Amino acid sequence: MRRLREIPPTAGLPLQAADLLPRRDALTATLAAQLGTPPLQLECSGTAALLVALHALKARAPDRRVVVAPAYTCPLVAIAVHRMGLTLRLCDTRPGHWDLDPQALAQACREDTLAILPTHLAGLVADMDAPLEIARATGAFVIEDAAQALGARDGEQSVGLHGDIGFFSLAAGKGLSIYEGGLLVTRDDALREELRAVSAAIVPPASGWELRRSVELLGLAALYRPSLLGLAYGVPLRRALRRGDPVAAVGDDFAPQIPFHRVGRWRRGVGTRAAARLPDFLITNRARALQRVARLRALPGISVFDEAAGTIGSWPFLLLLMPTAAKADAALAELWTAGLGVSRLFVHALPDYAYLADRVPQDAMPHARDFAQRALTISNSAWLDEADFERICAVIGRASA
Ligand SMILES: *Cc1c(COP(=O)(O)O)cnc(C)c1O
Repeated sequence: MRRLREIPPTAGLPLQAADLLPRRDALTATLAAQLGTPPLQLECSGTAALLVALHALKARAPDRRVVVAPAYTCPLVAIAVHRMGLTLRLCDTRPGHWDLDPQALAQACREDTLAILPTHLAGLVADMDAPLEIARATGAFVIEDAAQALGARDGEQSVGLHGDIGFFSLAAGKGLSIYEGGLLVTRDDALREELRAVSAAIVPPASGWELRRSVELLGLAALYRPSLLGLAYGVPLRRALRRGDPVAAVGDDFAPQIPFHRVGRWRRGVGTRAAARLPDFLITNRARALQRVARLRALPGISVFDEAAGTIGSWPFLLLLMPTAAKADAALAELWTAGLGVSRLFVHALPDYAYLADRVPQDAMPHARDFAQRALTISNSAWLDEADFERICAVIGRASA
């Protein structure tokens, strides 16, 4: 199934040449107006945004030292909690789902808990009722991890506003991208001021990172197209899988250091121009996703994740569960290296990443592990045409039967 085109595993908003011209920065104002949020705060990554949030909350509740996160989430969350000198406590997911399990959460969240991180995975809106109720009962804060969900809506409002703080990612592959970036949001005026003060105090003004990120953003703009993406994404993916390293293949092998710097004016300008296309992009992507979810539902034995009632997803990719780990492996054996944008989300539950063993409690998280073994993702990129989508459905249908 090898071919010359390579579909990206997620639907990133493609950059245009005109985006790269100098422009006045209005990135956070544009996005806040589109999303209907209070003022947004820009940081150099989603992880940096999470660190700023933890810093601010730690100042409010210095005796609380535990952060409760889902056992199936981005390894960067574990790295950030460790970097803050806080203790990570994992909460298993609901069986067959990525949401925090309410019973496990009630046990994990105690008087020592600083924050809970409900996570809007795959651009879909997480259950917020249990986390908010449990947090209220124990005095913990709620940080919504909306790294994958810029543009997702819960009822009338953007995700990120139910909890005390929300954050989004502007990393490559996460929808709107300035190669690396993150946004903080909160309804609470006092907390917003504290987040601003923390950022001013801990983020150095000048750094070599910004030059590097600018070059990387140019590279992304040049290579983010099916004809060239094989070079930047496909070749390293196949090489990693050949040497039996799925963690590197999906990019779950994060460095321990977390860069901290200001996002420069040029990248903010690029983001401002691209953001003008975001609302239409999200509408088109959602229509495509809902149609394809319905098509996947016709396949026996798989479960496809969809919007909860009253919510709207941002749909970077479609997320589904195969009936067994072996069947997921069988489908991926055919599809992962086929250039069709089929991948795994996170390869493991957090306790199963060997390189994180010193930063992640080694508790059994059976539902999260089962989820990691059975989940696969299908790109929601516009470049994945109907014929290729049908080829994917055929393989998944055969593997799951
Ligand atoms: C990507 C991601 C992050 C980190 O965001 P970056 O911008 O890459 O630092 C955090 N949480 C989740 C769920 C993510 O997918």
